[in-house]
Amino acid sequence: MNPLEHLRWPFFDDRHREFAAALDIWAQREVRDVHGADVDALCRQLVRQLGEAGWLRHVVGGIAFGGAADALDTRMLCLARETLARHSGLADFAFAMQGLGSGAITLAGTPEQKTRWLPRVARGEAIAAFALSEPDAGSDVAALQCAAHIDGDHAVLDGEKTWISNGGIADFYVVFARSAEAAGARGISAFIVEADTPGFEIAGRIDVIAPHPLARLRFTHCRVPLTQRVGAGGEGFKIAMRTLDVFRTSVAAAALGFARRAMQEGLARAASRRMFGQMLADFQLTQARLAQMATTIDSAALLTYRAAWQRDQGENVTRQAAMAKLAATEGAQQVIDAAVQLFGGLGVVSGHPVERLYREIRSLRIYEGATEVQQLIIGRDLLKATGR
Ligand SMILES: Cc1cc2nc3c(=O)[nH]c(=O)nc-3n(C[C@H](O)[C@H](O)[C@H](O)COP(=O)(O)OP(=O)(O)OC[C@H]3O[C@@H](n4cnc5c(N)ncnc54)[C@H](O)[C@@H]3O)c2cc1C
Repeated sequence: MNPLEHLRWPFFDDRHREFAAALDIWAQREVRDVHGADVDALCRQLVRQLGEAGWLRHVVGGIAFGGAADALDTRMLCLARETLARHSGLADFAFAMQGLGSGAITLAGTPEQKTRWLPRVARGEAIAAFALSEPDAGSDVAALQCAAHIDGDHAVLDGEKTWISNGGIADFYVVFARSAEAAGARGISAFIVEADTPGFEIAGRIDVIAPHPLARLRFTHCRVPLTQRVGAGGEGFKIAMRTLDVFRTSVAAAALGFARRAMQEGLARAASRRMFGQMLADFQLTQARLAQMATTIDSAALLTYRAAWQRDQGENVTRQAAMAKLAATEGAQQVIDAAVQLFGGLGVVSGHPVERLYREIRSLRIYEGATEVQQLIIGRDLLKATGR
């Protein structure tokens, strides 16, 4: 099964096709199966490599600020994540977080903020993080409590964030805090907090099943100049949602990349494993399993690139992106589980490619809106048409 076959689909332009084919060659050569114990060092190195090779220009918007184009191209982001995820989960993570962490600046930053951060993000010289979740505000993100009191020309941050990817290695964090211009979601603002700001600290690191830099953050009377507020006061929630709207479809693409790799590995194993006097692939039960895996992958790919294409046409894709994330992440989990089964005992040996995929995929069904949250988004959108 050729993992680049879908590039012929009408969702893409030739620049997308050339980009994906070139990145595939680069990733095969430079980052294939990169993993190891020191994820901080690996991620720093991956960000540098991705920056030096020019791939990170696609995660920032604005040619004047080091971006590949003036607006973020969702299909490029998705093709990049799918391709990188197929070769290395950590490379995909490093790429995606540069985009998610700087997305608010691309979408709503001042020219000064863009000039200071976006070119460095694009060159892989500054590492970005997106700090929204809190211990008591994950799915219910509008309940966040980290406070931002305005004191003259500064905001003073007090509170905690958790589950922050790149926590501990980031040079700056876009932090969403309650500035209380209004109640609920309208009283949240976004601030750029540099890692060496007094009053900011890493409260603890978090180990997860697919290791990558992840931390709890603590703010104690952390003074941030108002020039580092992204957007107007009270606009933070809207900016966070706009950022997630871009990147949610790319989570689907990453899941697709993991699933494609599992398919490749599973096919190769089925074709080479001898048992009962024939090959594993000769059994109809195996063929049915492979057929289901391939069909799940193609369904996820169609939904993912439909959402990406539609967003690039300037359309609202809230429902389509939610469908893509739901189908691709849940589907990838099934495909990867099937691949583990094809490998038998080998499939659960630590460090085996399908064992790593089995761990990599799990959190994608939780972050950037758990599956249940995507279901609610789709359901509400459908019911809107009934006037409810
Ligand atoms: C590896 C990883 C990386 C992350 N990186 C970041 C990051 O960089 N920045 C950041 O801000 N956050 C990050 N997160 C946080 C992530 O976005 C949250 O974990 C996620 O939003 C879920 O919040 P929670 O963990 O508090 O779970 P909860 O909100 O407690 O939800 C628990 C479960 O409840 C279910 N659920 C949720 N809503 C509903 C509902 N309405 N109806 C029924 N069931 C429901 C879902 O199954 C959900 O998994 C990361 C998380 C992980 C695991």
